[in-house]
Amino acid sequence: MTALIDARSLPDATVLTPDLVIIGGGPAGISLALALANSKLNIVLLESGGMNFDPKVQNMYAGDETGVRYTALDAGRLRFLGGSSNHWGGWCRPMDEIDFEARDWMAHSGWPITRKALEAYYPRAQELVEAGTWMYDKSDATMAAMAPMMPLGAGGVYTSWFQFSKTRDSVLPTYFGHRYEQDLRAARNVTPYTNANVTGIRLAANGRNVDHLDVATLDGKHFTVKPRQVVLACGGMENVRLLLASNDVMPAGVGNQNDLVGRFFADYPTPRDVATLVSFAGGLPAYYGSNTTAPNGVILQAAFAPTPAWRRKAGVPSSLTTVEHAVELDDTGKAAVITTALALGVNASSAQAYALGCGMELAPDPDRRLTLTGEKDALGLPRLKLDMRIADSDFALYRTTLAEFGRQLLASRAGMLRLNFDHRDDWMKTMDWGNHHLGTTRMSSDPKQGVVDADGKVHGVENLHIAGSSVFPTYSASNPTLNLLALTLRLGDHLKKVMA
Ligand SMILES: Cc1cc2nc3c(=O)[nH]c(=O)nc-3n(C[C@H](O)[C@H](O)[C@H](O)COP(=O)(O)OP(=O)(O)OC[C@H]3O[C@@H](n4cnc5c(N)ncnc54)[C@H](O)[C@@H]3O)c2cc1C
Repeated sequence: MTALIDARSLPDATVLTPDLVIIGGGPAGISLALALANSKLNIVLLESGGMNFDPKVQNMYAGDETGVRYTALDAGRLRFLGGSSNHWGGWCRPMDEIDFEARDWMAHSGWPITRKALEAYYPRAQELVEAGTWMYDKSDATMAAMAPMMPLGAGGVYTSWFQFSKTRDSVLPTYFGHRYEQDLRAARNVTPYTNANVTGIRLAANGRNVDHLDVATLDGKHFTVKPRQVVLACGGMENVRLLLASNDVMPAGVGNQNDLVGRFFADYPTPRDVATLVSFAGGLPAYYGSNTTAPNGVILQAAFAPTPAWRRKAGVPSSLTTVEHAVELDDTGKAAVITTALALGVNASSAQAYALGCGMELAPDPDRRLTLTGEKDALGLPRLKLDMRIADSDFALYRTTLAEFGRQLLASRAGMLRLNFDHRDDWMKTMDWGNHHLGTTRMSSDPKQGVVDADGKVHGVENLHIAGSSVFPTYSASNPTLNLLALTLRLGDHLKKVMA
């Protein structure tokens, strides 16, 4: 069994020469290492942190922000083995086919691959997140057998399902570091190093290959890794920082010849209490508002999503609207329920109201971006600054979906919806974020439009690939981890081929 090597125990100036180095031991890096375990490749995994949270290591994630209020850069991610999965929520949902398409109503949208390219990798990704049998949008019958679903009638919004990275005997989602530590140790061709911070990706003089990586420990050791191939898997923010800070050969930073690294940052806005849903028939089944275990042990929660057909027709992005909690209506709300129920001829004497929240997809915006500041961390790496933006049209388009949802509820005489926010200020008051860091090294076959190609290889650099949600060129509202894992496993197969 291989050891996890604490890089602080290495002699200063050590030089490692593996076939492949994976930078970052989060879900992407760990899953890639396991996908290549027991292959002929000699693999080194470099992880900045140790097995647990350490404030000194975490401090290297601190940065600045400007624009709309956003989670602090050192609060929305974690820097130790397992990465941000050490505090993730475990919500999983595959992206839809339409999420990969270029849409003429959404500038800069579209992937160079279709969902089909990921299909073969979702089953293993599902195993890695431990979310049980693949059900998702085939869950209606199972859940309706437990308690009848709210009838939505025909229209642009349907009931979709999240699955959770939790099993019946564990209330917590999969923390990749702790969960897969033994598997990493058991992989005889993988050597994981902890407390190993990559501080520079050093290109050969012609700029077309990574020559070596500079690595440092917080107690002052320095070493070098000279691999054949490199995979950068440090998360959607830190990938940017390493590429931009490594500017000794390419002055704009590695892969940044077209000024794209760090641009198009996105996350899912998750504003609370965006609308009030009234169910005329009374309380909704528990699976609308909380994780619910199906008879087969799979844990599910319902959400309201726009159908692909409606998205095309109305030109709206992806969104997932969830029931947050039951609410008491005020007198105006009660009067509206009575009037509406009378008009529809339904009995609303047991009506129950709920606050709705959502995860909504932002349109790609090149000016929502990460750049470097003049301030440096303990190892001398410039810190990041995020310019966070959200357009009025992002709110307006989500309202269009909510309005359609309300129309359907009335048409099916099942309930009604009150939209709570009109103005940007209303939305911003309850604004929260998903902590999903997307889009900053976007994938495109055209080097002028993207940082990596359809295989995840950095345009112009032959032996550098990127794994993780920074490569998502359009984002969907589905939580990213299951999807980035499928993409990472696909990258594993690609590396097996190109490194054979
Ligand atoms: C509060 C919260 C809740 C979330 N909930 C969900 C959810 O419900 N569903 C979902 O799908 N996603 C969720 N996410 C997002 C999820 O955690 C990420 O999608 C996932 O962790 C990304 O994996 P990654 O391996 O790409 O990056 P990370 O998890 O960020 O891992 C990157 C790794 O690289 C290491 N590293 C960084 N810099 C260096 C360096 N210079 N040298 C060496 N190593 C380095 C880090 O220590 C870390 O271990 C949540 C995130 C947060 C913060």
